[in-house]
Amino acid sequence: MKQNETSWNIQHPEDNDNIEWSNVLIDEIGDNHIAASTDTPMKADAFKLTDDEKIAIIEKHFAAIMDTLGLNLADDSLRGTPKRVAKMYVQEIFSGLNPANRPAVTLFENKYKYNQMLVEKNITFYSNCEHHFVPIYGKAHIAYISSGKVIGLSKLNRFVQYFARRPQVQERLSMQIGKELQQILQTEDVAVVIDALHLCVSSRGVNDTSASTVTAFYGGKFKEETTRQEFLRYLELKPDA
Ligand SMILES: [Zn+2]
Repeated sequence: MKQNETSWNIQHPEDNDNIEWSNVLIDEIGDNHIAASTDTPMKADAFKLTDDEKIAIIEKHFAAIMDTLGLNLADDSLRGTPKRVAKMYVQEIFSGLNPANRPAVTLFENKYKYNQMLVEKNITFYSNCEHHFVPIYGKAHIAYISSGKVIGLSKLNRFVQYFARRPQVQERLSMQIGKELQQILQTEDVAVVIDALHLCVSSRGVNDTSASTVTAFYGGKFKEETTRQEFLRYLELKPDA
């Protein structure tokens, strides 16, 4: 079965004749962390509600989750939690769902005619697994070869943060960053490598605390062995060595 068919079943279980099969797929996808598509699956009316309206609704639902778990919401320590979680979801850790928060881009002419590889490595990011809603965190490494345009280095970092602030799967995060930079920089020659820890693997499930996951996106010249090897060698360099 192709991955997009799996995704279709997950998103529209009501259209599937066999609901039990759909449930089996949900369990499978949850532990295998399959990326179903490059675009984050969004509803057509995803931004009909304002942020404040979303916060109010999520607060109510999160209070219901806590109440169902048996927590006493009258307790001083817990009282503010539903509102705090709702604000954190909408304004911080899932703010990258909203295209209004996409970083603004200014391109510069490459006046030094620097046509070598530019590498920005060890960009720290925090994201969340879309199958368990627990953190994924790690480092992103980005490289591109200028087509005549360059971008401020801090913007590379900002685009990583923008796409990380969504419920994610790591493969999609790599692809979204890579494809966005290809478009902005007007070149296919972009590479993204992400090395990350998944708390849904370390803190639950198989409880493996040392496993990290590496995903890569290679476009244009980075599909060639020599260019890719050059990039990977730069990732091993230490600035103080
Ligand atoms: Zn997960």
